[in-house]
Amino acid sequence: METQAFKPELADLKKAAQLIDDGELVAFPTETVYGLGADATNPAAVKKVFEAKGRPADNPLIVTVADPEQVADFAQVSAAAQVLMDHFWPGSLTIILPTKPKHLDDVVTGGLPTAAFRLPDNQATQELIKLAGVPLVGPSANTSGKPSPTTAAHVWHDMDRKIAGIIDDGPTTVGVESTVVDLSVSPATILRTGAVTEEELEQVLDEPVIDVTQPTAVDDAVHPKAPGMKYRHYAPDKPVVMFDPLDAGELAKAVQDSDAIMALDDTLAQLPAGQTQTWSLGKDYQSASEQLFAGLRYFDDRADVQRIYVERLPEIGLGRAYNNRLAKASGNQFFQAD
Ligand code: AMP
Ligand code: MG
Repeated sequence: METQAFKPELADLKKAAQLIDDGELVAFPTETVYGLGADATNPAAVKKVFEAKGRPADNPLIVTVADPEQVADFAQVSAAAQVLMDHFWPGSLTIILPTKPKHLDDVVTGGLPTAAFRLPDNQATQELIKLAGVPLVGPSANTSGKPSPTTAAHVWHDMDRKIAGIIDDGPTTVGVESTVVDLSVSPATILRTGAVTEEELEQVLDEPVIDVTQPTAVDDAVHPKAPGMKYRHYAPDKPVVMFDPLDAGELAKAVQDSDAIMALDDTLAQLPAGQTQTWSLGKDYQSASEQLFAGLRYFDDRADVQRIYVERLPEIGLGRAYNNRLAKASGNQFFQAD
């Protein structure tokens, strides 16, 4: 299949919406990562998403809407859900709610009595969903297990000739996937960390929220809280190793020519200029989250790089979401200074 390149303009969005209506796949921009869109009400179209990504069939998909009112067609919207939608949408918060029976196919929900909903902060994508007249399933538009795409070029790399179209609206701004909060249980439970933090959710809900994403839960591999948690994620083909910025001096001594380093500018400044290839994560958590997947993808495609060292950040705010993705990409491998 020839994959069509679309711009975020009305004429192109109309063509993309027609493809969605025809049961085809179109990748769309959001503020977090690029999504792989299909008509959420068309099971045959949704099945193609699993094929294009190589995604396990029991891993449910997020339903992407253009209007909070669309959610009520499919799920029971509690008062707490309404509060979160009013406050955080459009934005990087995905909300899991109990579904209305028979309103969404099992291929979307993974057979669960719940579904996940999000309204992304991107004008073109909101317009696309309105033109299509149906919500779109929208998992990240990458090959399953690989780092999520934060530019249209990343999507072309993984999806060229597998999907009908790609809408290019430039690099995403947040760079890590949305926070996933489960409101079908009590207390509200974070299943995936993202730009919306536990503290913000507690403040807006005025209730305690729990976070089950911390890597200490050994049991997670056997009894994952979210279906997607048991799968390897965000990982390039090459080994990734986390390092503590306090160990930058030791790392500088240990690295080989075939190693690459991704770090904040302040940390890179401590490393002697030399053979080692580096990727700037910018100056703060925001830029680091925006750049993480792009750097991993860049070095994964470089024949002269064998291993990728990446700086770990303090566990504060967006740093938690960043560290969570990095821990998974590295399989929890840490650089140990001797
Ligand atoms: P992605 O497909 O990359 O956008 O990730 C979606 C995440 O949301 C995955 O970790 C899914 O397992 C999770 N998810 C989607 N729907 C549900 C649901 N109904 N219950 C629990 N987790 C869900
Ligand atoms: Mg994904």
